[in-house]
Amino acid sequence: MRLILFGPPGVGKGTQAQILSQKLNIPHISTGDILREAVKNQTELGLKAKSFMDKGELVPDDVMIGIIKEVLSSEKCKSGFILDGFPRTINQAKALDEIFDELNIKLDYVISIEVDDDEIIKRLTNRRTCRNCGAVYNLLIDHIPEDNKCPRCGGELYQRSDDNPDVIKNRLKVYRESTQILLEYYDKKNILKKINGVGEINHITKLILQSIGVKD
Ligand code: AMP
Repeated sequence: MRLILFGPPGVGKGTQAQILSQKLNIPHISTGDILREAVKNQTELGLKAKSFMDKGELVPDDVMIGIIKEVLSSEKCKSGFILDGFPRTINQAKALDEIFDELNIKLDYVISIEVDDDEIIKRLTNRRTCRNCGAVYNLLIDHIPEDNKCPRCGGELYQRSDDNPDVIKNRLKVYRESTQILLEYYDKKNILKKINGVGEINHITKLILQSIGVKD
């Protein structure tokens, strides 16, 4: 199965992708995670990407297309994958089509998770991530221990530097200006599924699986 999880920042793409990755036994490919890892390791890519990420701007298309081409051609993506955070522009979507053609594979579904802006801002400002296992928590919903350690693995929880109100506003603006238009692009290909992203995490997973014809 080859899926794209689509939607503005904060709708739960990462959370759902982690769950679906386990259920469907295919890798979760998050371009945001790849970039954050590069920033942490201060690689050439990380140094280039950081200034864009800090402002909530998009990293240039040529850089992102190069990354995704390499990952999708790798052995681990042979039997499928879930893309989270890519594509984000029309250029990226067209390049992705070309990569699929070159690899002789087909995209099955694009799942658009829908949540309104007020809820997104609330979620992102209260989001905390584990530095060790990548688990994502919401301070308003999840019980976070006072020592600020990940309930799952004991790693340190941190707030992403781009999860602050000014950068969040810009990320939403960039989504509306450059990314949202891809909904039309994939709707025309008849592979778009729209899912209401408000509610229990497990319920949303069920809706996604139903929409792509997979029994839970
Ligand atoms: P995310 O974790 O998906 O919210 O991504 C965090 C940041 O990484 C974004 O705000 C962008 O700066 C950068 N980024 C991630 N994926 C892409 C992409 N496909 N194109 C351009 N920039 C990206």
